[in-house]
Amino acid sequence: MGRRRRKKARKIIRVRKTLPKVFQCPNCGIRALTITFPEKRGEPGSSREALIKCGHCKLYAKIEVPYVFHEVDAYSRFLDLFHEGKLEYMFMEEEEEEASEEESLKLSTEEKGEQ
Ligand SMILES: [Zn+2]
Repeated sequence: MGRRRRKKARKIIRVRKTLPKVFQCPNCGIRALTITFPEKRGEPGSSREALIKCGHCKLYAKIEVPYVFHEVDAYSRFLDLFHEGKLEYMFMEEEEEEASEEESLKLSTEEKGEQ
């Protein structure tokens, strides 16, 4: 009894919150590309859809990736497809602009924090 562990005394060497979720867009070159997985459910071994959006040029694409893929994996798959010219993508409507402007603002703050 009475034994206490000091969890608070952990030294922060380098803040590495999460895996990077904002990537450089191959279309406009701005780091404003986000990848999300709308389908939360799925079995390991199956595949799911990754949604790719650029907050700058409004590029919008969907690719199918293995369920185990993280954002960064989906990103490299996306890049491959993009450079091979196999990717089907479009650009979002103007309506979305307000929301994504806010998003990219947040993103740039995050970016600063990383460095
Ligand atoms: Zn872009």
